Amino acid sequence: MPRDPRFDILFEPVQIGPVTAPNRFYQVPHCTGMGYRRPKSLATMRGVKAEGGWGTVCTEYCSIHPSSDDEPFPSASLWDDEDIASLAMTVDEVHAHGALAGVELWHGGAGSANFYSREAPLGPASQPAGVWDPVQTRAMDKSDIRDLKRWHLAAAKRAQRAGFDIVYVYAAHWYLIRQFLLPSNRRTDEYGGSLENRARLLRELIEETKEAVGDTCAVAVRFSASNGGPDNDQDTSEPREMIEMLGELPDLWDIVVHDYSYEMGTSRFVPEAGLEQTMSWVKTVTSKPVVSVGRFTSPDTMLRLVRQGVIDLVGAARPSIADPFIPQKISEGREDEIRECIGCNICYTGDQTGTPIRCTQNPTMGEEWRKGWHPEFIPPKGSDSTVLIVGGGPAGLEAAVALGKRGYDVMLAEARRELGGRVSLESQLPGLNQWARVTEWRLNQMAKLSNVEYYLESVVDEEQILEFSADHVVIATGATWRRDGIGRWHEDPIPGWDGSGVMTPDDVMAGMVPSGHVVVYDDDHYYIGGVIAEKFRKEGLDVTLVTPANEVSTWTTHTEEQYRIQQRLLSLGVDLQTGMSLASIGEGSVTVECVFTGRTHDVAASNVVMATSRKPQDDLYHALVDRINVTRIGDCLAPGTIATSVYSGHRYARELDADVPVPVPFRRE
Ligand code: ADP
Ligand code: SF4
Repeated sequence: MPRDPRFDILFEPVQIGPVTAPNRFYQVPHCTGMGYRRPKSLATMRGVKAEGGWGTVCTEYCSIHPSSDDEPFPSASLWDDEDIASLAMTVDEVHAHGALAGVELWHGGAGSANFYSREAPLGPASQPAGVWDPVQTRAMDKSDIRDLKRWHLAAAKRAQRAGFDIVYVYAAHWYLIRQFLLPSNRRTDEYGGSLENRARLLRELIEETKEAVGDTCAVAVRFSASNGGPDNDQDTSEPREMIEMLGELPDLWDIVVHDYSYEMGTSRFVPEAGLEQTMSWVKTVTSKPVVSVGRFTSPDTMLRLVRQGVIDLVGAARPSIADPFIPQKISEGREDEIRECIGCNICYTGDQTGTPIRCTQNPTMGEEWRKGWHPEFIPPKGSDSTVLIVGGGPAGLEAAVALGKRGYDVMLAEARRELGGRVSLESQLPGLNQWARVTEWRLNQMAKLSNVEYYLESVVDEEQILEFSADHVVIATGATWRRDGIGRWHEDPIPGWDGSGVMTPDDVMAGMVPSGHVVVYDDDHYYIGGVIAEKFRKEGLDVTLVTPANEVSTWTTHTEEQYRIQQRLLSLGVDLQTGMSLASIGEGSVTVECVFTGRTHDVAASNVVMATSRKPQDDLYHALVDRINVTRIGDCLAPGTIATSVYSGHRYARELDADVPVPVPFRRE
């Protein structure tokens, strides 16, 4: 299909200082959990983005000097000349597809605790360093500031030698340069106090970086358009004054905000183009090109923001992770094939846990080098085998689509009246509606595959499966929530679990309505307990959330949601009982027990929702395993996230009739 001419504007080149971006699609710096530890994985992954049409592809934050490391979160680094070669691999991969390569030079200052280098962290003042880490910075004196500028220039020159086209001065988030910009910088020398003084370090770094590498490299500044506040009423006054002052100095402004949970907020809390109101003034105070993000997956939204002069370049991290080929798809009139980011932030959990990036929508993310997986191409089938898949959740659907694309004849049987499994159910819960995109994209792909058939309302049993006589049978029947309370805290059933008022998340999603006072017992610690508490409270019920953890939905610190979830539940008036386990369930009340002291008290409860752990639905698998060629995937194999199910289904499809290395099924760096 030809490109819709209204999108032509997105494919116009953009001059950025001495370099020209071939189009407006700009992959902003984003962390990957790979950094300096996995340079080949990184280079190949970034190269795939350039191949997919992103006209500019940047690295993650790149430490300029050992006086700032962010371990255990792996950043890139340009500490000395030895670091050049590994980043040059990324540059080469990106250049191979005609895109520009950008590097985000970084010094964390008080934002990092330096547990790897063991150097005393640096800051504008002696202040707490890291997050909750028990260390403080050393206040920088004038010679430290001179050193910092020297290191920054040395790293910029190394970046130039590596071949980068865009070099960043990173003045955003809670890192060193921004620590100088903030009103809390009360230094009494010319680098603190007045707004002009606080901006002095940034001004000097921009000027000196341009002087050093500006002949071939554009100098970009990453900058926060706000100093915090409610999402659509952020305090932008000082940032605005600063851009008014420095606006013409860099070649590009890369605009973000103070608060990560807003800037890269999950779809549960922040809509597409969520930063628009906060940053739309930037282009009125600078003539330089502006890039910003907003989980843009809709070409129309991209178009509107460019047309309205809010941005010049369409910035993306997550949309480019979920679909590295968005630009190419728009260019070829295939907008309907865009695999839209669902805004779950599983991709961010890689960095947060010091492990390589993964994506719910794109199972090939992070596997480009080590498994040779490509997001758009999959090898043709290795035989004429037929495949029967039982279960049309994310695992079964992904397997069906990927096998279908390989050319296998696939039949999929689904018990329910609709496909999507847990995704179609969970996406009905408050704030999770965009998760339905996991199903929608796969249904759309399946519709284009004449070799994939599916049957709804088809509960198949062992004998029916045998009747299909498929060469391969895949059991993707998912998992069900346990009713007995066994989970992370309880190894044995909770007394009273079999009472009539006990429900599971499956019951809630099937439409069962509780009455009176509801206790949600969350020993799962991801989103489901918090989201069910939110749902019932919004429906007007009295809700108590009990969890053995010290905060609600504690794993969501990795998705940058925990603070917002707890804030929302508290504002809604949900009673939060943290550090408490559920000791027993009685008639009309439950007994909860402090996990520290063992002290107990009773809480009124006419219903209890057990969000603790899940049981794989693997009976069919066990009934068939000794009789036919059968495999289980997804939650049926091991209950996990939607991302693990999609990956599991994709992996099955890739590995059918393929040679898979043993014992390690991937390449290592
Ligand atoms: P996963 O995340 O592994 O894909 P889900 O629980 O989301 O797991 O999906 C499993 C799907 O399997 C559900 O849609 C469920 O209705 C379906 N299913 C379970 N048992 C059967 C069966 N015996 N026959 C057909 N479909 C089944
Ligand atoms: Fe989007 Fe989730 Fe993929 Fe991240 S993991 S890119 S948020 S779909």
